[in-house]
Amino acid sequence: MRAIQIASPGRIEQVDIPAPVPSADQVLVSVRACGVCRTDLHLLDGEVSIPHPPIVPGHQIVATVVASGDDANPGAPLAPGVRVGIPWLGWTCGKCRYCRSGRENLCDLARFTGRDIDGGFAEFAVVDRRFCFPLPDSYSDLEAAPLLCAGLIGFRALRLAGVGQRIGLYGFGASAHIVAQLAGAEGRSVFAFTRPGDSATQRFARELGAVWAGGSLERPPEELDCAIIFAAAGELVPAALDAVGKGGVVVCAGIHMSEIPAFAYERLWGERVIRSVANLTRRDAEEFFARAGRERIHTSVTAYPLDETAQALEDLRHGRFEGAAVIDLAQSA
Ligand SMILES: [Zn+2]
Ligand SMILES: [Zn+2]
Repeated sequence: MRAIQIASPGRIEQVDIPAPVPSADQVLVSVRACGVCRTDLHLLDGEVSIPHPPIVPGHQIVATVVASGDDANPGAPLAPGVRVGIPWLGWTCGKCRYCRSGRENLCDLARFTGRDIDGGFAEFAVVDRRFCFPLPDSYSDLEAAPLLCAGLIGFRALRLAGVGQRIGLYGFGASAHIVAQLAGAEGRSVFAFTRPGDSATQRFARELGAVWAGGSLERPPEELDCAIIFAAAGELVPAALDAVGKGGVVVCAGIHMSEIPAFAYERLWGERVIRSVANLTRRDAEEFFARAGRERIHTSVTAYPLDETAQALEDLRHGRFEGAAVIDLAQSA
């Protein structure tokens, strides 16, 4: 099968490798589309390490079940032909203190799709049957792909930010363009922060309901109740702390961030909170996809064929599209 592999930092190439074979608790899927995430860029750049390279990245997989590895237990919901979504969380131990307390996102032994397990920038993949999800029929393959990380981890970040009315979103890319719609549907006011001078993205944010859009180091016209930082820039943390009022929560939603500059304690004072969001639980996925089925979330997608995956990552790096990039395996066939 054709696949994209990262062999070492900076080295990404298209390869021809045997299609994987599912073990007893896995299913073999045919990939239809796979979203491109900033984490894929961090993996390529070596900012997030790959334990056992080479790896096929890609963890926002929309796929069709081809075959089950466990013929003794056909598992009807995953019969051949069923469309499933496969997210970043690929496997958890089920035994550690995190798994046993409803926090499998923090599992000590967790394995992640596209980092520990070959992912979706390939024609086929194998996935643990317990870690894939039915997707609402109302989304096409390309529309659904960004829901699997940008949407899902954005949804978790939004919940961790609390119920504040005025929410700031720092870095208005794939995740923020979905979270803005979720927050708007909850009746909240969204304040979008982009790269300074990026008027196209600020316009895009306003089109998706933001009440204000400006540069990342600007002060918003009102004091915020909470903020989510999607950009990987550590200097946004003290900026966001200044933008939120007393008791405000600042959530760092990325897997990697540059160093946070030192800042005076008074900027944190007043019960302001800084926290990160790590991964997702299967419960997050069930709740998010149920909501995505009830509410229509618009995903703005730029599609690339498989052999242009490296280009898609460079375009993401330079902010050359609004919303999300998705590798379209149908286009690549
Ligand atoms: Zn991701
Ligand atoms: Zn565990």
